[in-house]
Amino acid sequence: MQHARCTIDNKVWEAEHFSVLLEPNLENMRRNLVCAECGEFAWFRRASRHGRPPHFCAHHMDNCGLRVEYVAIGEQRDDATTQEEELNAGDSIIVHLDQEHGGQIDVNELQHPPTPGVGSGGRAFVVPGGERETAQQFTMRRILLRLVQSPMFRNSNRQLILYRKDEEVLVSGAVRDVVAGFMDITTERHSERQMLYWGPIASAGMTADGKLWLNSSDRHQGVSVAIFDDVVDEFLKMFGVNDLEDLTGAHILVAGTCYYARTGKPVIWCGSPRYIVVRRYRDARLQVGI
Ligand SMILES: [Zn+2]
Repeated sequence: MQHARCTIDNKVWEAEHFSVLLEPNLENMRRNLVCAECGEFAWFRRASRHGRPPHFCAHHMDNCGLRVEYVAIGEQRDDATTQEEELNAGDSIIVHLDQEHGGQIDVNELQHPPTPGVGSGGRAFVVPGGERETAQQFTMRRILLRLVQSPMFRNSNRQLILYRKDEEVLVSGAVRDVVAGFMDITTERHSERQMLYWGPIASAGMTADGKLWLNSSDRHQGVSVAIFDDVVDEFLKMFGVNDLEDLTGAHILVAGTCYYARTGKPVIWCGSPRYIVVRRYRDARLQVGI
């Protein structure tokens, strides 16, 4: 879209005008954008190498007049509905991080069509040593999809177990206790705690030491996810990111430890591309690759 409101100066900006703002002003203001009509999280994208002009996008409210349809890159449009049905009441969710394949996971799954009644990728089995409850194997990507789309899931008592490898547990507990949205992070509950964190990205950038920083908006407490320099290339390749601007507006889910920086902002540290998943969006009207 052409316009977005910046909550710092409470002004509605036109994209071309916004794009010529100088740093660090631009960086600061792009972390404080909302849709001029519905007030939901908005983001700015600089001009692309392929000639697309600078523009704004937003995760609009359903009734917003500026709403456009977004499709998540690498997912089918009806993924959400299908997956909603696949999770039976009472089932635990299990993720094996050593089997995560980042952006390629959905493509792989499509090569093996689900058996009717079984559910794609959701193999039911008994939790070892636990009570005789069934569990379904999920990917980080599927958990993120549910978090984005279902407030009920975010607050649920659904048991979630993340295995680092084999039977080594990284995170375990009810979704509402071991998963936090960027907005809900607090010093009391999350400082130095290893769990799952998720939220939207307003900007991405590299520091001189080679770390990649994924920054959320100030409304989301300015949370940043820091990806260690030795895994940055693998991360970008895994999620098909050629230009850091491609990451703006994406939702991310990361298994990591939260530390408070001296600025008072929470930073989630991520040391492996297998511990993070990115859900990128594009306008449904645009052709792939533009
Ligand atoms: Zn809107």
